[in-house]
Amino acid sequence: MQSENKFKSKIVVVGSCSIDFTTYSARLPTPGETLIGKKFTTSFGGKGANQSVAAAKTGGNVYIICRVGDDQWAEKYKEHLKHVGVDVTNAYVTKNTTTGIAQITVADNGENQIVIVPGANEHLSKSDVDYAKELIKKADVLIGQLETPYETTLEAFKLNDGIKLLNAAPARAHIETILPYCTILCVNEPEASQIVNFDVNVSNIKSALEILLQSGCKMAIITLGAKGAAYSSKNTGECIHVSSNKVAAVDTTGAGDAFVGALASLLVNFKNQPFHQLIGAACEYATLTVTLEGTQTSYPEKYIPFTKQY
Ligand code: ADP
Repeated sequence: MQSENKFKSKIVVVGSCSIDFTTYSARLPTPGETLIGKKFTTSFGGKGANQSVAAAKTGGNVYIICRVGDDQWAEKYKEHLKHVGVDVTNAYVTKNTTTGIAQITVADNGENQIVIVPGANEHLSKSDVDYAKELIKKADVLIGQLETPYETTLEAFKLNDGIKLLNAAPARAHIETILPYCTILCVNEPEASQIVNFDVNVSNIKSALEILLQSGCKMAIITLGAKGAAYSSKNTGECIHVSSNKVAAVDTTGAGDAFVGALASLLVNFKNQPFHQLIGAACEYATLTVTLEGTQTSYPEKYIPFTKQY
């Protein structure tokens, strides 16, 4: 597989991987209360890994640069990523630390409570990036998020000569220094709101995109949940809205990560398609994932893009 992939365009993801422990209960517990839950699931998550898996499942040649702990989850996670075709040569182990985890409680009414322990994700360092600098430099698409240290992602973005795709999630302030290095900035509505300082929605999307572009990236995309996505680029300044298919959503967790991962593999595998079509296909893929339960488990493997025009 590795030798076969040697000549394929490379997608490199610098980011997080975590294990999601999810409990389903009738309602959320109050402080100090013990409730009997209905169901418990353990699943592979973390934005970096989710995006790697989506990119691999949509045909990308994917390499992840991440950190796991020295616990029972580390090998399991690496095996899982390998199984879906993600190269884990640069998945490093941090001693005396746990793999990142998210402890999630979901109530019947959809409300949730989440406690995240970043664990090894917090230790992904500039030296890790430096160690993998040849890979990062030559990546055709480099993907970063904000679940691992900001300075590490920034360092990677400074090195790369290809398309740099930043998913500025989870929302955080003060990301000005990385935006000029971004070819594409991709955020959802709350994340866009955090950057532009007003509540972003479909009605003010054009102004939001204009502000994102002024911050230095060449192209900005705002995903809009069931309403699809809108984007604009410095080249044209036009605001283009692409709609999503209407579906009965079952679980929207990880839809944004599916969008980002799929977009990366579409960018390298369908270079001749107009950007509008690539966004349409990424939306279509992300929409498929909301019709199934789970995050990575909801990412389809046999996706054929461009069966229609968007
Ligand atoms: P995030 O998961 O980061 O919050 P969004 O909610 O904006 O991101 O969703 C990302 C993409 O997933 C959307 O652009 C859309 O293509 C798809 N999507 C999300 N929710 C739905 C939905 N309810 N119906 C159809 N598509 C959806």
